[in-house]
Amino acid sequence: MPKKIIIIGAGIAGLSAGCYARMNGFDVQIFELHHIPGGLCTAWKRKNYLFDGCIHYLYGTGEGKPFHNIWKELGALDQTEIVNHSELMTVVNPNGDCFTAYCDPDQLEEEACRISPQDRPFIRDFCNAVRQFQSFDLSLLQQKPRALWKASDWSNFGRAMLPFLPAMARWAGMSAGEFGRRFKSEFLQRAFPLVFGWPEIPMMAGISILAYMSIQNAGFPRGASEAFARAIEKRFLDLGGVIHYNAQVEKILVRDHRAVGIRLYSDDLYEADYVVSAADGRTTLFDMLDGRYLSPDLRRVYDQETGLAVHPMIQVSLGVRRDFSDQPHWVTYLLEEPLLLAGEERRDFGLKHYCFDPATAPSGCSALEVILRIKYAYWQHIYGHRLYDSEQDQVADVLIAQIAKIYPDIREDIELIDVATPMSYERYTGNWRGSSVGWLLDKRAMFKMMQGMRKDLPGLRNFYMAGQWVEPGGSVPVVAMSGRNAVQLICHQEGMPFEVCLPASG
Ligand SMILES: Cc1cc2nc3c(=O)[nH]c(=O)nc-3n(C[C@H](O)[C@H](O)[C@H](O)COP(=O)(O)OP(=O)(O)OC[C@H]3O[C@@H](n4cnc5c(N)ncnc54)[C@H](O)[C@@H]3O)c2cc1C
Repeated sequence: MPKKIIIIGAGIAGLSAGCYARMNGFDVQIFELHHIPGGLCTAWKRKNYLFDGCIHYLYGTGEGKPFHNIWKELGALDQTEIVNHSELMTVVNPNGDCFTAYCDPDQLEEEACRISPQDRPFIRDFCNAVRQFQSFDLSLLQQKPRALWKASDWSNFGRAMLPFLPAMARWAGMSAGEFGRRFKSEFLQRAFPLVFGWPEIPMMAGISILAYMSIQNAGFPRGASEAFARAIEKRFLDLGGVIHYNAQVEKILVRDHRAVGIRLYSDDLYEADYVVSAADGRTTLFDMLDGRYLSPDLRRVYDQETGLAVHPMIQVSLGVRRDFSDQPHWVTYLLEEPLLLAGEERRDFGLKHYCFDPATAPSGCSALEVILRIKYAYWQHIYGHRLYDSEQDQVADVLIAQIAKIYPDIREDIELIDVATPMSYERYTGNWRGSSVGWLLDKRAMFKMMQGMRKDLPGLRNFYMAGQWVEPGGSVPVVAMSGRNAVQLICHQEGMPFEVCLPASG
């Protein structure tokens, strides 16, 4: 009889763990609280529009490049067209000046030097780092669970890293905010940190994004994020796995300090030889396991005052009867006067359109999106009160008023408005404080990522964790590798070789 594995969560980590567990002959069931797969890797249909809630760049879209193998094994990109952008973002100054963050380092260098010739040496250093990181294999750290690394794995890793160490030491220790402050040009000081998402992100991560986009290994899969997740769900089902939707796990059952199954909120019980939680980390540790198996390190990491930071966001999506395809796909506008949004001052906002994917809007129309990092506490405080709805309307109104300054008669063309707050992320995916990537990728999280977080718990046997809460910084490819690694650990425990196979079409 094959051993039974229960996986909690059908996000990308859970689906991936499910596929690899089936490839290795286990009897696998996934339990998912929502009625669709994907977790944070999702998109939502509203009338004729499809609003993407996740992928801006997906590492591994380039044939033969880092992370591509895992998508092949998971059948995630079969028959999927990939859109490769030539620029990451355009930033517009209030005086109308534009800076385009091209992915190609030569174009980027020329563009940044055009704006700020006095910053030329620094710009060249940075673009050289982008050039160098084009051949950096970020997937190396995830190829195998760190707990199973042998001396030869460490020495191979060390050899592969050696040429990059000086650059890593320089750029991993510098945040995008610190990087921006080094520019003499005030425009680039403000523009550069915005290009990489948030000011705390270590520049090594920002450089990797540009480097991978420039070698066409960080594209967007047409059909949007839900279709991408559905492809992995199909692979799991084709491999003979079972998924239970609308099945929220309340407790992990433990006997003699060994995980033996789960109990759902419906009170249904399921037994297994192993349990893998690919769901929210805090719920897993503090609710499903009642905080009984915490190491001092985990207590530190989850401490709300001194632990790692999380990353809540708000997404305002608009369906507009207007074709934006001749506009740059992602533009951040620097504002002369700050805006007040949900109690926070904003000095910029980014507007993205998805015309590069016809699945997102009818012909002649566009799906637009504004995403902003926002405070969870504010939304949690008003959640369940009438103010919650009116605050969402107000945020949308303020943003539309800003967009109307750029596209004066846009209001007439708006057919649909959709707002997802941190409470929406929390409700639909169970993620702690509505976090979009688990732990926010800053210098501390990057250090933790390099160090590696443990996937098992002290004193609890036959239990593993996978996904963004044990992979600081998250991201779709890293959590897919995390699911794969959880199964490698189980195979190791069972004394079995870890096997992979490609889909019949692959
Ligand atoms: C707006 C946005 C943009 C992003 N952009 C990118 C990008 O461009 N590139 C990139 O690589 N990554 C991006 N990410 C990050 C990426 O989406 C996540 O890091 C990744 O999808 C997390 O996957 P996961 O499986 O670890 O967790 P999740 O997606 O959170 O999956 C966990 C699953 O567990 C389920 N669950 C939770 N609790 C329970 C329970 N009690 N019982 C049963 N099921 C439960 C949830 O419903 C969910 O389906 C983005 C995320 C967001 C939100």
